[in-house]
Amino acid sequence: MFGTSRNNISPQLQKLIDILSKVQGLGPKSARRAVLQLLKKRDVLLAPLIDAMQAAHDEVCTCGICGNLDTSDPCAVCSNETRDHNVLCVIADVADLWAFERSGGFRGQYHVLGGLLNALDGISPSDLRIPQLIERIENGKINEVILALSATIDGQSTTHYLAEVLENKGVKVTRLSHGLPIGGELDHIDDGTLMAALKARREV
Ligand SMILES: [Zn+2]
Repeated sequence: MFGTSRNNISPQLQKLIDILSKVQGLGPKSARRAVLQLLKKRDVLLAPLIDAMQAAHDEVCTCGICGNLDTSDPCAVCSNETRDHNVLCVIADVADLWAFERSGGFRGQYHVLGGLLNALDGISPSDLRIPQLIERIENGKINEVILALSATIDGQSTTHYLAEVLENKGVKVTRLSHGLPIGGELDHIDDGTLMAALKARREV
């Protein structure tokens, strides 16, 4: 009947839409469209998606060293002996690691913070993988730490905080050049710009 508050979507479908709506970047509208697409293409989309999600759930873990997501711990980057283990690139999220790896121009190690400092949201150093970073630098053979955080307010305040904390740790601390767009997330920057910012990095 028109005029009632019930939308007549079955509870199973509504549940799926509600869950997908919570994914960052998808709202209820996109979630509804995605669900319809999946159901229209059961064999080519829905069934393989179920399998892929189950595999990701069962097999992907967080690397205990760098915070990367992989099917092995340590991850493929940390356990690759041909990479430079003296240079450490500090990034906010795994998406940034993917951006650097896509560009193919960085052969060092990473450290994923898991976010950025934000006083308003109550995100403090202990909420991020900053204690692990300090421990890694104190115990490792790292010569240079590259702070590759976004040019957003949170990115800049995290960079300043880390530069201070790392000041007397006996490592060279650099940051990406200001070629990055202000407010830009690393993940959205094209490979060429990201590599130029990396090459033109300067000491903090
Ligand atoms: Zn790792």
